[in-house]
Amino acid sequence: MSAQVIDGRACARALTQSLEADVDRLRQEGPGIGLATVVVGDEYSSGAYERRLRRLAGRLGVPYTPQTLPGDTDQDTVLARIAELNADPSVSGVLVLRPLPRHIDEAAVFQAIDPMKDIEAVHPENAGLLALGVPRFVPSTAASCFHLLDTWLDSVGEDRAEFYHRANIVVVGRSNNVGKPAISLGYERQATVQSVDEWADRTTGIGRYTRWADVLIVAAGKAGLIRAEHVGENAVVIDVGINAATGPDGSVHMVGDVDHDSVAPRVRALTPVPGGVGPVTDVWLLRNTVTAARLLAGQPIDRARPSLPTPARVLLEAS
Ligand code: NAD
Repeated sequence: MSAQVIDGRACARALTQSLEADVDRLRQEGPGIGLATVVVGDEYSSGAYERRLRRLAGRLGVPYTPQTLPGDTDQDTVLARIAELNADPSVSGVLVLRPLPRHIDEAAVFQAIDPMKDIEAVHPENAGLLALGVPRFVPSTAASCFHLLDTWLDSVGEDRAEFYHRANIVVVGRSNNVGKPAISLGYERQATVQSVDEWADRTTGIGRYTRWADVLIVAAGKAGLIRAEHVGENAVVIDVGINAATGPDGSVHMVGDVDHDSVAPRVRALTPVPGGVGPVTDVWLLRNTVTAARLLAGQPIDRARPSLPTPARVLLEAS
């Protein structure tokens, strides 16, 4: 039997509908909303992501300011550009796309973003709030992983709390923007969470951890990293990876970190690439941009987080 495919595009469509209403309400109430992205260089995955965000912002009628800088731009110029966006009242959310070129200090760039406009929660203040379980913004990729999981659990009639409390969630990859936030969201659901990184792969191999996963979240950026021998039979696999693959005719297409052909016959459910984590990530980022616009306008944010197993609600106020 082949795995159920968790349809990210369908989830994204449903989320977009509620977001359209939020954006309309913002327009009527007055606070400006605007998304700005900063891309340095021409890396495949960030280019693909930027184009998707541009399209979605256009569809929602959210003003969009792309800042595309050449790969050899020096750090001071990048920081100056971020300072301009921080000061620009028409911009409510700022996203710096990764990876940045090696000569740029990523931590310095993230610290330069106004925490109230930091829609990906990479500033230490927002990363800290997330780690403490009281996020101002839930980083979009990790949010997407758990939104897809929650939606799938609902669709198969499983109780979320019961599932997560028993679940062993294994997260492959430990980046500050994807792996670590996913770990935090797993903790938030009171699951058992394991984090596996490159060193496990180089030493003992990752299979000894990943095979025991009830939920396997893979965010390593390595095409074909997860194959049939790495997964257990009841696993739900969330493939975050975006990699460029060249076909026999020389054309470039997108693949994830999971070898879908070998894994699909073994597991319970998995997300496709493309059409899985990516579309929901995009909508979540715009959703965070709405949150930022409200916070900047001094509006209290009563953000229900329906995807939590317990009916947790977070009341955030503009600081
Ligand atoms: P990153 O390069 O910052 O981090 C990758 C992590 O994986 C690191 O912790 C690294 O040590 C680990 N890793 C590398 N090789 C490994 C291996 N062989 N075994 C175990 N761990 C290994 O990348 P990132 O920003 O976290 O993104 C990861 C992937 O997800 C990339 O392909 C990226 O393009 C993609 N991505 C997708 C979305 C989306 O919405 N679908 C969003 C963000 C990132």
